[in-house]
Amino acid sequence: MSESGRGMDTVSILQKYNFTTRKRFGQNFLTDPHVLSKIINAADLTKDDFVLEIGPGLGTMTRLLCEKAGKVYAVEIDRDLIPILHETLAGYDNLEILNEDILKVDIPTLAREHNAGKPIKVVANLPYYVTTPIIMTLFEQRVPLKSATVMVQKEVAERMQAGPGTKDYGALSLAVGYYAKPYIDAYVPPNCFVPRPKVGSAVITLTTHEEPPVSVEDEKLMFDIIRAAFNQRRKTLVNALKNSPLLSFSKEEIMGSLQDMGLDENVRGEVLTLEEYAALTNRLLKC
Ligand code: SAM
Repeated sequence: MSESGRGMDTVSILQKYNFTTRKRFGQNFLTDPHVLSKIINAADLTKDDFVLEIGPGLGTMTRLLCEKAGKVYAVEIDRDLIPILHETLAGYDNLEILNEDILKVDIPTLAREHNAGKPIKVVANLPYYVTTPIIMTLFEQRVPLKSATVMVQKEVAERMQAGPGTKDYGALSLAVGYYAKPYIDAYVPPNCFVPRPKVGSAVITLTTHEEPPVSVEDEKLMFDIIRAAFNQRRKTLVNALKNSPLLSFSKEEIMGSLQDMGLDENVRGEVLTLEEYAALTNRLLKC
């Protein structure tokens, strides 16, 4: 199909079904065929892959996923899109469509029932209003995941990939780094979507680690410490942790742990690496 043909596709489907996009569901449909191929190439699909697509929308990307992957499972929250998807994607026998909020789907059970518990790939142009909860759900539910190739807001992609000491570094960078290796595949301007979003976008691939890169005795405590550190990122780490309702360590315990690690008592949370957060957690657990 010609470039403009595919571009027209999204618009003509919208017109054919007289579909009005819904802002509350983050509906910005992709129209640019180059971007679609970039996502598909970044996901590196083969017929051995089981793909979970979150928010298939009008099915523009779903069609390409069905052609490249072995099986595609598409979860769409908007019930008005379901008949459109069934019609535009009729003929693909390796596709299942579920009308549900992805945050209510038990994805590990889905992977177990439909892919014998083997690791799956997530490919999605994500609704921006729920990007972080969706990514964190994938990680925290322990979804058997090979990789997630997702379109997100540009700033979110940069936060996911940021390193210590930079302005974008935060709890999301550390969570992503704990579970996966991030790589920004492409930046995507607003004119590649209808309607145009107000923000720039980026495609990012998160390739999950087989084993976490650091050893921590209590993951939940480490993420509470990280959250506390970045909730008050202007304060010193000692004060941010001491004042946090998430934690109950004394100033002395926190200072002692930092000293043991050779860190300055005035250090801020934004310069600690994932390894240092893991080490701090393991030390505080001994207090
Ligand atoms: N994949 C399509 C594309 O690339 O053109 C649509 C992408 S659009 C940015 C996001 C899609 O996610 C919309 O179809 C929207 O209805 C759907 N969506 C929003 N929130 C969702 C949720 N919680 N669970 C499942 N789908 C959701």
